[in-house]
Amino acid sequence: MIDGLGTEAVPKRDVLIQDGRIARIAVTTMIADIPENAKIIDGEGLTVMPGIIDGHTHMGGIDYSVSNLNAEIWKDVSGMEIYQHMFAYGSQGGIDGMQRYNEANLYAGVTTIVEVGGSDEISTKIRDEIIAGSRLGPNIHTVGDTIESIPGNTLGVMQLTSEEVQAEIKGMLDAKAARGIEFIKLYAGISPWQARHIMTAARKRGMRGIADFWCMNNSQEVIETGLFDSYAHGGCVEVSEEEARWFAENDKFAMFTLDIFDTMRGERGWPDYEEQNFFRNPLIVDIWGKEGVQAYYDSFLSLREQWHDGEKAGYTEQLWGNKLPLLDLNMKNLMRMYQGGVTIFMGTDANWPPGNWPGEGMHYELELHVRAGIPPIDAIRMATYNGAKFIRRENEIGSVEKGKKADLLIVKGNPAEKISDTRNIVYVIKDGRILDRDSLKKR
Ligand SMILES: [Zn+2]
Repeated sequence: MIDGLGTEAVPKRDVLIQDGRIARIAVTTMIADIPENAKIIDGEGLTVMPGIIDGHTHMGGIDYSVSNLNAEIWKDVSGMEIYQHMFAYGSQGGIDGMQRYNEANLYAGVTTIVEVGGSDEISTKIRDEIIAGSRLGPNIHTVGDTIESIPGNTLGVMQLTSEEVQAEIKGMLDAKAARGIEFIKLYAGISPWQARHIMTAARKRGMRGIADFWCMNNSQEVIETGLFDSYAHGGCVEVSEEEARWFAENDKFAMFTLDIFDTMRGERGWPDYEEQNFFRNPLIVDIWGKEGVQAYYDSFLSLREQWHDGEKAGYTEQLWGNKLPLLDLNMKNLMRMYQGGVTIFMGTDANWPPGNWPGEGMHYELELHVRAGIPPIDAIRMATYNGAKFIRRENEIGSVEKGKKADLLIVKGNPAEKISDTRNIVYVIKDGRILDRDSLKKR
């Protein structure tokens, strides 16, 4: 058993689940009075751990064939326009696409997601239907629509002193609060001082803040000035030991989405293009089917040109500076934050960029954290308990403890010794019920 709290894995534990919760945990055979009709799962060779929490997602379907069709058009637009088009991936298939996205997460043992950019209306509707039991899916926490000043947003270049904009911000925040949205995400284009203004109003409404200031991410300045709780990703700034201590002392969270930096330099997608490993990855091919994976490989070369190699590609210097050292830099920052005692949680940003598959991506993210130097048991804590802590649900989910909701993952092997064992999923349990994983497979 791995409890998700960072405690060493312990052998031979029985976990009794009743009424959707963990009723008891004891050394094997020590639980007396097991109800007669209980379903028994033989745990020989298996490990039980908390359901995974993806702390950075965007609900939406995947259809790479669409991006392929758009390739010609994209060659003639600017980096910023390509950037906006990237989110086209995230909106494929409407509600059905979002449903498939959520099924992909559950299939891979991700029982809770934090949607860091979606829709106030649709994301909360889906969240509520899952809570009501009329829709299958992970627990959802969402920021709803992001607040940004890139072209196309009603705020435009914000003049915060104008009464009109003030009223717009207040109206927007009131509407979010009424939908039970707990966080807002402020995005590239907003200055830290503008952010402070918006976050002050948000905090009055009980909402917390996530910052995505792109290359400025990781810096103390944005979080401190903007009154944020966390970044949405790592960035291009190197964190000093002193800054890491500041994050820890001020209860700020850190989050890196390492897979983004791996994909930016083309490392995840490229070897996979050569070897086409995604066809042999059950967490991907079972859900998206051979055709879905084939569409990815068919569009990969044009994607690579648009995103990495093309003159106007979305990952050029104008947007992110030199992207090649960013994975190493963010792994270094991760270790500095870890050694400084910062609470780090984990997320993927799936399904952006291409090759970042919902559900499966968290297993890759776990592996990247271990590759950076995080001990597996702590990487698991970041992907479970720390995520729950960020959304302030650590009394309900994120660990295997008596009284907690039974959102669990049962895998073959021992991820505390070999992190990739989290992929060997035997059972996913949500709200105490065993998920029918077979029924989710693509036929
Ligand atoms: Zn994102």
